[in-house]
Amino acid sequence: MFRIRRIYDDTLPLNRDTLKQVKAILRTRFSSIPEEEIEGLGDRLRNPFRSRFRSILLAAENMRGRVLGFALLLHEPEMEFCYLDWIATLKGGTGGGIGGALYEGVRREASVLKAEGLFFECLPDDETLCGDQALLKENRARLRFYERYGARPIVRTAYETPVKEGDTCMPHLVYDGLDRTRRPGAHFMKQVVRAILERKYEEYCPPEYVEKVVESFTDSPIVLREFRYVRPQAVRSKVEGSAVERIALVMNDHHGVHHVHERGYVESPVRIKSITEELEKSGLFDPLPTKSFSDRYLYSVHDRDFCVWLKKACIGTAEGKSLYPYVFPIRNKTRPPRELSVLAGYYCIDTFTPINNRAYPAARRAVDCALTAARWLVGGGRIAYALVRPPGHHAERRSFGGFCYFNNSAAAANYLSAYGRVAILDIDYHHGNGQQDIFYRRSDVLTVSIHGNPRFAYPYFSGFSEERGEGDGEGFNLNLPLPEQMDGEKYRAALGRALRRIEVFEPDFLVVALGLDTAKSDPTGTWSLRARDYEQNGRMIGALGLPVAVIQEGGYRTRTLGVNARNFFSGLASSASKAVKRRRVSRDRIEGLAFRNNLKEADVKRIRALVEKTGFFRPGENAVAEEVAAERISRDVESGYSFILVNNMGACWVTYATVPSPAPTRRTIFTGSP
Ligand SMILES: [Zn+2]
Repeated sequence: MFRIRRIYDDTLPLNRDTLKQVKAILRTRFSSIPEEEIEGLGDRLRNPFRSRFRSILLAAENMRGRVLGFALLLHEPEMEFCYLDWIATLKGGTGGGIGGALYEGVRREASVLKAEGLFFECLPDDETLCGDQALLKENRARLRFYERYGARPIVRTAYETPVKEGDTCMPHLVYDGLDRTRRPGAHFMKQVVRAILERKYEEYCPPEYVEKVVESFTDSPIVLREFRYVRPQAVRSKVEGSAVERIALVMNDHHGVHHVHERGYVESPVRIKSITEELEKSGLFDPLPTKSFSDRYLYSVHDRDFCVWLKKACIGTAEGKSLYPYVFPIRNKTRPPRELSVLAGYYCIDTFTPINNRAYPAARRAVDCALTAARWLVGGGRIAYALVRPPGHHAERRSFGGFCYFNNSAAAANYLSAYGRVAILDIDYHHGNGQQDIFYRRSDVLTVSIHGNPRFAYPYFSGFSEERGEGDGEGFNLNLPLPEQMDGEKYRAALGRALRRIEVFEPDFLVVALGLDTAKSDPTGTWSLRARDYEQNGRMIGALGLPVAVIQEGGYRTRTLGVNARNFFSGLASSASKAVKRRRVSRDRIEGLAFRNNLKEADVKRIRALVEKTGFFRPGENAVAEEVAAERISRDVESGYSFILVNNMGACWVTYATVPSPAPTRRTIFTGSP
């Protein structure tokens, strides 16, 4: 068993490990490749400007993460052609169809990119061109393999001309037209050949040589060699498999036990059934088994006391009985009562979310599902959907309510925050007060919520636009409260605003708290979004091109719930596939650094900490750094100080420099890095 995985860059630990194994294969299989080129592979993935080709790495891995083979595909986005640079399997291990699966993966990628064909080099299978018998045998096997797809060497050109005297075994340029029936003409081919020779063999091929080979491409369309190994009728040129992004589906296998039978309790097991029935029709989903995570992950987003009480209270409630909070600490929160049932009001924000012995196992398993989805992204997956109930986005650090017990979306976001910057987009009809509360003082997790204005909508006491975050988190919470009547078009205007804020934040991961109670006739909402609106919303979110964990929140009109979910995901998957392909990476991101020169209150303490870490200054001098920063904030340019803040991959501040302005007497006072 193996899977083909696309590696976009080497920023995640798992991808770094994959890349290490790929490099090892390169070293053993292609001894002539200079070490520099092998070591520069990660950089090539991250930086498309360097080689003027965008590199796409496909790795074939077994279930233990061992790399069995890989292919490196280069994409030329202006001329729109693809060039297969390397394809290799572990030495001695071409069995199990790994080479074939990789080549089919390459063809799929090239086809999605709408490439005008796939080109690559292959050593000759003619005795006149290559004298080495062993090599000849290998070359024949290779060309036979490619012929099965209709791919053959381009003939009647000077591509095989030796560069230096004594060069033998010069490679053919092979063309695979993929699904296309029309072959390219001379004009296009001249550009392609020039790009290959100049960019790939810059050191090796002198300009006169390049000119000579380029000019030899005069046939329009190009002529391919006659079939030598395969009967033309046996060729399978069709590109196999779907190129749309697949979605890993994590289901809460324990959700059914949590079934509150009281009248009007709309958060019921049938919700999940109505969604899965529709998802199955889409063919977009691959099931992903739920992994169990330790309580440590729960305690990182919730107070331990609250979690321990919830478990005890739930398990202690008699079978079939539900306990509803009935007394609330409006006047004094500092003296929690001892009685478990009275404590329900101490920890709950409303009177309709019951404690019972089924709620805890279901809620705890939902957290595992959300974490499994997050973990999938860290492993290089692009889209995961945790289809869970009970929902979680109303659960705060030390309280539950609104049918929610533990905050699944927050747990996923916090897990991901160890690997990069995270944005949570809550698109439930109700305010995502839970995530807001949990991340209110953090700047590494951006929380955005679009919801019915709390003046008329649950949870009533939060979700106002002036709630923007505090301390380090100031400016990292965005609430977009909307009017009582909304249609799809008005909603998209708000969604556009939310997405622009997320783009500015430049996250590495996105968590979507997916509530479908924004739909027309939902019993808990007042808006009127229709099935086609969900498709468009999904498209807009997918266009960010980010790895995304979608966590199910609300949505209670079971008649349309499934169709709306299916539409959302088909929009998300189709636009995510496109976005990843055309992902324009900014310079800042490529270099891993972002710069800014406006100081914020939170920077003052950071600067002091960084200066202390340098160890160059005495304690008194460290305090000066803090004072200078504060002065810059209060007096701006008048202070005479200016700062440059450098942020490394959004994760930590690495360097601070302050220079007295104005120029020309600029002088660095200090720099610091952790
Ligand atoms: Zn809701």
